[in-house]
Amino acid sequence: MQGEEVEVTRAEKILAAAFVLFLLIGGVRVLGELREIPAKPLMGAYEARYGIPELERNLSELSIEVQSLEETYRRAQEEHLRAKEEYLFKREEYRTRMEEGSLDEKLRQEYEQARQSYETALRNRDVAKEKLEAARQSLEALKKELFQRREEASRDYRAAMRVYELRVLVLRLGFALPLFIASIYAAQRARQRRSRYAIHANSFMAFSILLLFYMLIEFTWRSFHVIGVSAIGALATGVALAYLKKEYLSPERQAKTRLSQRRCPYCSFPFESGDAYCINCGQRLVETCEKCGAQRSRFANYCHNCGARVKI
Ligand SMILES: [Zn+2]
Ligand SMILES: [Zn+2]
Repeated sequence: MQGEEVEVTRAEKILAAAFVLFLLIGGVRVLGELREIPAKPLMGAYEARYGIPELERNLSELSIEVQSLEETYRRAQEEHLRAKEEYLFKREEYRTRMEEGSLDEKLRQEYEQARQSYETALRNRDVAKEKLEAARQSLEALKKELFQRREEASRDYRAAMRVYELRVLVLRLGFALPLFIASIYAAQRARQRRSRYAIHANSFMAFSILLLFYMLIEFTWRSFHVIGVSAIGALATGVALAYLKKEYLSPERQAKTRLSQRRCPYCSFPFESGDAYCINCGQRLVETCEKCGAQRSRFANYCHNCGARVKI
């Protein structure tokens, strides 16, 4: 009979865990649906508000312009070097001929032309360089502007996301909190009435607690990331641990366990039925029943002789 009962209890535990699991699947699904209700901020909308797409277009156009100006400058520089070489050559020739006294009009014209080409090339090169530098400066300014606007847009977006997450949290609390309160009420009633459905009520309570926990973890993750999850997780498990310790490892419970094994509640030394004191540690084990006067265990909930309630 004892063995069978243990089997039933184990089966009950497994079924209760499955019960909680199936409830959780549905609960998490509902939480997911609730997430879709408030309008979710879109990054694109904030970028548009700060004129970022337009700025990006300008930036790409300007980049192309800078590339083309770089090419123009490179060519102007080549032309300048070529014209300079030509000019220096003609000048040398001009000087030599002048010293020889054989300077003619044709050479003079060629020299003059080379000089003018060189001067033009020099001017062209300087103009190209100026234009290129101006365009580069505008490009840098535009990049800086874009960066700044992106910062502003993402700051606004993050603020909007926080509001959105809060709205989702409130909606979800509206769903999970009543479940939680109802489950606590049901579990308490089932316990008081010693209902055979107590395990259902307890499982339902476990479900509602897990759902709340899941919700808080998700919210914290989205809003505060790792640090938040670490804090909430540590807090929740810490509380659960303290609760378990109080419930299952309390001195009273330990004393009861020892007593059921006919061992002293204080020192765990075995005692005989009817012993008034522990022969090992000397603690008193019995007291007089206020109702019938029998010597009953100090740790009894009910008097073994008259059935009077001892502890409330
Ligand atoms: Zn003892
Ligand atoms: Zn009694």
